[in-house]
Amino acid sequence: MFTSLSDRLTATFKNLRGKGRLSESDVNATIRDIRMALLDADVALPVVKEFTRGIRERALGAEVSQALNPGQQVVKIVNDELIRVLGGETRQLTFAKKPPTVIMLAGLQGSGKTTFAGKLGKLLKDQGHYPLLVAADLQRPNAVTQLEVVADRAGVLSFAPERGNVGGHDAVTESGEGTRSFGDPVAVARAGVGQATLRGYDIVIIDTAGRLAVDENLMEQARDIRDAVQPDEVLFVIDAMIGQAAVDTAHAFQDGVDFTGVVLSKLDGDARGGAALSVASVTGRPIMYASVGEQVKDIEVFHPDRMASRILDMGDVLTLIEQAERAFDRQQAAEMHRKFMAEEDFTFTDFLEQMAAIKKMGNLKSLLGMMPGMGQMRDQLNALDEKEFDRVEAMVRSMTPFERSHPKQINGSRRARIAKGSGVTVSEVNQLLERFQGAQKMMRQMRRGGGGMPGMPGMP
Ligand code: GDP
Repeated sequence: MFTSLSDRLTATFKNLRGKGRLSESDVNATIRDIRMALLDADVALPVVKEFTRGIRERALGAEVSQALNPGQQVVKIVNDELIRVLGGETRQLTFAKKPPTVIMLAGLQGSGKTTFAGKLGKLLKDQGHYPLLVAADLQRPNAVTQLEVVADRAGVLSFAPERGNVGGHDAVTESGEGTRSFGDPVAVARAGVGQATLRGYDIVIIDTAGRLAVDENLMEQARDIRDAVQPDEVLFVIDAMIGQAAVDTAHAFQDGVDFTGVVLSKLDGDARGGAALSVASVTGRPIMYASVGEQVKDIEVFHPDRMASRILDMGDVLTLIEQAERAFDRQQAAEMHRKFMAEEDFTFTDFLEQMAAIKKMGNLKSLLGMMPGMGQMRDQLNALDEKEFDRVEAMVRSMTPFERSHPKQINGSRRARIAKGSGVTVSEVNQLLERFQGAQKMMRQMRRGGGGMPGMPGMP
C-alpha cells in the first residue's frame, strides 16, 4: 500500500540530505515534489492544498531544532502533517453504556462490508467480546449466505432471515425461535439487536445493503435502519482503490446517513492511497480500521501516526509487535523470555513454534514491509519466495527431536538423511545449520548487551 507515494516522498527527502540549511527555493522545490506525489496518488486537490500549505508555513517558519538537520526537519514536518491529515489521534470504538453496542456498516456494494463484518467480529471476539453479526443486506442474492460463511470463519454467530423466507414470517437461523423478522432489512436489523439483548451478546454488527453507485433509495434504507437501531457507531466502508471517487462517495454517505468512523478496505492492493489521505480530511471523520486482505485475520486498527511513518518508510514496528502479540500466546512468549534470560540456546523446536506463530500473524511480505527501511528493499521483498520458508520448515521437520535441540550434533550422515527426508540438497541443509548457528550466536551477544535489535535475530 502507498508504494509509489512512499517512494516519491523518500526520493524527495533524499535531495535534502546533507544540506546545511534550507533556502526558500529548496523548500519550494520540495513542496512542489510533494504536491505532485500526492496528486499522483489520487489525493483530492483541496487536501493537497491544505497539506502543502501546512508544510510551507512550518518549513519556512521559525522552527529551528537543535537535534535535527534541515532535511530531517522537513521529514518531521511532513510526518506531522500526514498524521494530522489522516485524522490525528487513534480513535477507539465507542461502547454503549448498556450493551449491546450496535455497530452499523454502510458503503457501496463491493466495498468490502461483509468481509469486514467478519474481521471486526473476530477482532472483538479475540478481545473477549461476544459479537453477533446481523445480515440486513437483503438486496444482493448471496449476501446473507456470504455473511454466514464469514461469521463461521470468524468463529462468531450470525443472525439472518431464513432463506426462502425472506419475504415472510418467523425466521431466525441462529435460534430458530420466536423473533419475527421479515424481508424488510429494517425489521431484520431490529430483530437482530433484540436477539443480542435477549441472549447476552454485547456487540451487534449490522451489515447493510450497498449499491454499485450512490442512490437515494439506498440512503433511505440505511437511514431507516439507523433510526430503528440507533447504532453507537456507523462505520463507512470504502474501497481504497476507488481513487478520486472516494471524496464524492464519502460526502454522499455523510449527507445520506452520516457516519462516525471510516474503514479503508483493500489497502493490501496496489491502491495509490489517495482515498486514505482524503476521506478523513474532507469528512472530518476518523479512519478507524484498515482492511488488508481477504481473510478474517486481515484487519488492523488504524493509527494515523503509524500509517504516516509507514508512508514515509520509517517502519511500523508497533503494529508489527501487536500482530505478534495477537499470534503468540502469552505462555509461549514467557517461555521464550525465560529461555533468553536463562541463557539457554534457541533450538529448532523453538524455531518451529515461532514459524507457526509467524504464519498465524499473516502474510509474511506485509509483515516485513512494516520494518523500517524496507521501502528501499522492495525489490528484494517482492522477490522473496515464501516457499523458501516451507523448505526450511521441511528440513526442520525431518530432524529428530534430539537433533532439533542439539543442532551442533548434526553430523554428515545426519545431514544427508535430513536432506533426503525433506527433498533438498545437503548443501541447503549445511546453509541452514550455518545460518542457525549464526542466529544463536547473535542472540548470545545480545544477551550480553552486545547491542543489536532486540527480538529480531537473523535480520540482515
Ligand atoms: P460488500 O458488497 O461491501 O459486502 O463487499 P464484500 O465484503 O463482498 O467484498 C467484495 C470483494 O472484495 C470480495 O471479493 C472480497 O473478498 C474482497 N475484499 C474485501 N475486503 C478486502 C480486502 O481488504 N482486501 C482484498 N484484497 N480484498 C477484499
